[in-house]
Amino acid sequence: MNKYSKFLIYLDPGHGGTSPGATVPKMMEKDLNFAVALALGPLLLQTGFRVAYSRKEDKTMTLEQRVTQANNQNASIYLDIHHNAFTNIHASGMEVFYKKGDDLGKKLAETVLRQLIITLPMVGRGVKTREKSDGTPYYYTIRNSEAITILLESGFLTSPFDFHEMAKPEFPAREAIAIKKGLVEFIDKFVQPEPVDPQPAPTPDLVTPDSKIQSLLIANRDLKNELHRIISIAQAALRE
Ligand SMILES: [Zn+2]
Repeated sequence: MNKYSKFLIYLDPGHGGTSPGATVPKMMEKDLNFAVALALGPLLLQTGFRVAYSRKEDKTMTLEQRVTQANNQNASIYLDIHHNAFTNIHASGMEVFYKKGDDLGKKLAETVLRQLIITLPMVGRGVKTREKSDGTPYYYTIRNSEAITILLESGFLTSPFDFHEMAKPEFPAREAIAIKKGLVEFIDKFVQPEPVDPQPAPTPDLVTPDSKIQSLLIANRDLKNELHRIISIAQAALRE
């Protein structure tokens, strides 16, 4: 248990099964999304986060199923993982969407995008919101998820420049590392900052060299005595 364990991160690799997402000759978006989620899960668990997945295999799921699952599990943060495509091959780079008016969502989008830009050799296109004509969020997951939700579009499969990076075998792991760093930074800075120590340590200047040496000697003597005690207990136990 640590300060991250109270957060359940819901990983939703976009598309799957009969829905391939963006498709180029050598890659389907659903597979890349899934690879990133699979790499990210263990990294988050290692940090202390709890993790849930929308899908752990290549299967067809509706957006409603994904979001209902996340809401039923009380997810704290919902990561909708996608990669982009466009008719113009010059469109390239990474962007992260959040819900308009959601301040924490915006901060999360910003920290994650910054880490993506640091980690991956692709340009940042900024954090964005997108609304339908009635003003509600365009993306179903962002509109209906109760968690802090962001939708990632980390690179364009249709950009030869981006694809050169995205096709590298280490790409999903590198993207996962960046997302994890962004999440940790977000929690540390905006959700649960370290409490300030109410009793500051004494200023070093007030400790005279003599008293420092004295305290070291005392500590050493205690340590020595303690070691002797442990060794004699161990020896006694061996003799029995
Ligand atoms: Zn997609």
